[in-house]
Amino acid sequence: MNDCIFCKILSGEIPTTKVYEDALCFAFLDIEPLAPTHFLVIPKTHIASAAEISGDMEAVVGHIYGVIAKLCAEKGVTSYRVVTNCGPDAGQTVGHLHFHVLAGRQLSSFN
Ligand code: 5GP
Ligand code: ZN
Repeated sequence: MNDCIFCKILSGEIPTTKVYEDALCFAFLDIEPLAPTHFLVIPKTHIASAAEISGDMEAVVGHIYGVIAKLCAEKGVTSYRVVTNCGPDAGQTVGHLHFHVLAGRQLSSFN
């Protein structure tokens, strides 16, 4: 039994607003947007976090960054932030690797 929310989005069990899909990844709007543009990109293969990226997943992550560049270019988004929270101290709340794409407002710097 897979209780992963994002796997349920992939299977259609939980509805979402799709932004993009291909054989390797799926992009959808974040349910609680933190910026005028805020979508998530996930691999179709379930891995828990960035800490589990190895082997074939390394190429998938590279592909996801290419997809993000293409989607932002198509949307005319020229400045954006890609964020992957890894583990609870970093703020990860969903245990399926995901990349936030945030744009459309001035984002605060890290400190
Ligand atoms: P994290 O906190 O793990 O870095 O990011 C998880 C993100 O998933 C959050 O920004 C949260 O709003 C989003 N999220 C959680 N549940 C759902 C859902 O059911 N649908 C969508 N579209 N986003 C979700
Ligand atoms: Zn999952």
